[in-house]
Amino acid sequence: MLNLRIYQDIEKEKMTEQTHALTFEIKRRISNTLARSGTIATPHGEIQTPAYIGAATAATMKTLTNAEINELGAQSILSNTYHLMLRPGADLLAKAGGIHRFMNYDKPIYTDSGGFQVFSLGMAYKKGLDATSHTTKGSAENAVMSAEQLTKVDKEGVWFKSHLNGDKIFMTPEYSMELQHQIAADVHMAFDELTSPLAGREQIKSALDTTHAWAERSLRRHVELNAVHLDKGEPLQALFGVVQGAREEDFRRESAAFLGGLTLEDGAQFDGFGIGGTFQPEELPDVLTWINATLPEDKPRHLLGMGAQPADLFLGVEFGCDTFDCVAPTRQARNGALFTYDGRINITNKRFEADFTPIDVACDCYTCQNHTKAYLRHLFKANEVTGMVLASIHNERFVVKTVEDIRQKLNESDTAFWAYKRDFLVQYYGEERARDFLYTSPAAWQ
Ligand SMILES: [Zn+2]
Repeated sequence: MLNLRIYQDIEKEKMTEQTHALTFEIKRRISNTLARSGTIATPHGEIQTPAYIGAATAATMKTLTNAEINELGAQSILSNTYHLMLRPGADLLAKAGGIHRFMNYDKPIYTDSGGFQVFSLGMAYKKGLDATSHTTKGSAENAVMSAEQLTKVDKEGVWFKSHLNGDKIFMTPEYSMELQHQIAADVHMAFDELTSPLAGREQIKSALDTTHAWAERSLRRHVELNAVHLDKGEPLQALFGVVQGAREEDFRRESAAFLGGLTLEDGAQFDGFGIGGTFQPEELPDVLTWINATLPEDKPRHLLGMGAQPADLFLGVEFGCDTFDCVAPTRQARNGALFTYDGRINITNKRFEADFTPIDVACDCYTCQNHTKAYLRHLFKANEVTGMVLASIHNERFVVKTVEDIRQKLNESDTAFWAYKRDFLVQYYGEERARDFLYTSPAAWQ
């Protein structure tokens, strides 16, 4: 209890001089790419970018304590509005004094709007119930949802059913903002409409128009809620607009230009931008170029839910994303799939039975400093929870460290960045496969 009290005093002290919810400063760029490094400052501290933001969906990075999260070097975490509104409820988080106090985590926290989960997990009304209103069927013939899971969208908002208890909930952009302000993270995402990877242009355009109308409504409500925080002397919260438009160049550019230029009568704008959508990794260079070459340069960009491969980290950075989150490192860890600089291994493999070396001798994480592959394999084989904890620590540290190294090289020089990328990918994937990730790499690759 003592620690908690001290933390709250420190928090109060930090807040007193706040005038902006978020600032972003660019430090260095890589020539002929969209890559840049910089610093995002929030009421709960700074994030040196590019940065990997650990997934803490339900206000916890699965299996890890805050002490472990801090020790592995995470600068920030991302929690999910949909999950928190259903359990434990945004009211409870508000009562606790916000998510930072609830989980006693004092670094910057992002929340996503819940849009993706409303459309993918929310058990929605069936088609037949929606005879009258304008319905965007874009999500219907969707890889993510079955017909029974149809989420009903109209211009006002979206009806969905809780995947936990079947409660029917009407989510609007304003309601998403109210929930996110109750949760009180540092960075929120505007509520958007998900488009199916299989949707046609007409459906994508319809969802995009809805997303843009909702973005403006999100921003309006957000500004009102921040005014209340200011009155009460509470920390201001930042809002990112979410760029959609699937894999269509004109829609992506339109979305980035619309959200990037959106300004309310009082001058309010988005503090940064999220990049939403479902992609194959090979589509990302084009899509990210359309978006990030169009968005205002001076605001941070967050890639929502990126791929599970180390190559994706380089891709995100090279194509102009400042932060990105991913559930894969902890999810894979819980399945025994571990990153090493020589590629991914499965720790349950027989060949590790009597292997008394660390997962990776080059890794500085707690697990690699203290335990062997043989011990970890034993824990997984015996279904011991500690195995998942140690594996999660390692995978998260591996990703955090890789992005730390990318950032350091980016700040050093263009040559250092390209050389690090080449060496890392060749060691991880082998010379031939690594060439799949050339993208804009200069001749220095060879
Ligand atoms: Zn390790």
